[in-house]
Amino acid sequence: MKSGPLLKAERIVKSFGGLRALDGATVEVRAGFFTLVAGPNGSGKTTLINVITGVLRQDGGRIFYKGRDISHTAPFERRRLGIVRTFQTPRVAQRLSVLDNVIMGVLQRETPKWWGWREAERKLADKAYEALKLVNLAHMWDRPAGELSGGQLKLLELARALVAEAEVILLDEPGAGLNPALARELFAALRAVAQRGVGVMAVEHRLDIALDYVDYAYFMHEGKVVVEGAPSEVFRHPLVAEVYLGQ
Ligand code: ADP
Repeated sequence: MKSGPLLKAERIVKSFGGLRALDGATVEVRAGFFTLVAGPNGSGKTTLINVITGVLRQDGGRIFYKGRDISHTAPFERRRLGIVRTFQTPRVAQRLSVLDNVIMGVLQRETPKWWGWREAERKLADKAYEALKLVNLAHMWDRPAGELSGGQLKLLELARALVAEAEVILLDEPGAGLNPALARELFAALRAVAQRGVGVMAVEHRLDIALDYVDYAYFMHEGKVVVEGAPSEVFRHPLVAEVYLGQ
């Protein structure tokens, strides 16, 4: 790994009253990597995502994006720079097609000039279809989005982030509420997205399902990263078993 990380959250501290939700955690997101942040409930994972997206302001530590300190930039500015967070329950226009929903994600950001509309629309539709193919949802392109299952909605949102040219995609418990087969499908899609050069970081309560798909894992406990490395090694680490068994 010669090149630097796309995003680095360095020694982040965040307290709520007397509680240190983050206590010096450092994580990196690399382009082309699917990175996992695991840890028991309350270990600070969601807070970390909120600090990285700028929704919460850290009390200490810094955030770098492409080497630039973005610790004090507004959430919308981070979004504009290409740091995108996807949500538990994606918002879609139920009656519009899956493809149109993906296209809409981009149009919210930029409206093509009227004289270039046809051409811009065709290009966008191609791009949206490519993204749907990558996340394994192309067979549903002309169906109303209201027909999609919970897992498929998450795939749609991923396609949207891709078309909107996200460079870092952050996900909070993407596997939550999905049966193991669908969770695996989603993780496979996330891996495919990362392999396209995007930096993907997912936060998950459990390590086991994501293990086969991620390139690098952090394990958090009480606001600190206590173990990190190759996912299989992190999973086997005695401290990880101890923390989960102690719950
Ligand atoms: P995780 O995502 O790993 O379950 P969180 O980041 O949600 O952990 O929470 C870390 C700790 O911070 C927990 O003890 C939680 O109760 C606390 N916490 C999170 N958000 C807030 C908040 N807005 N106000 C007070 N305490 C919070």
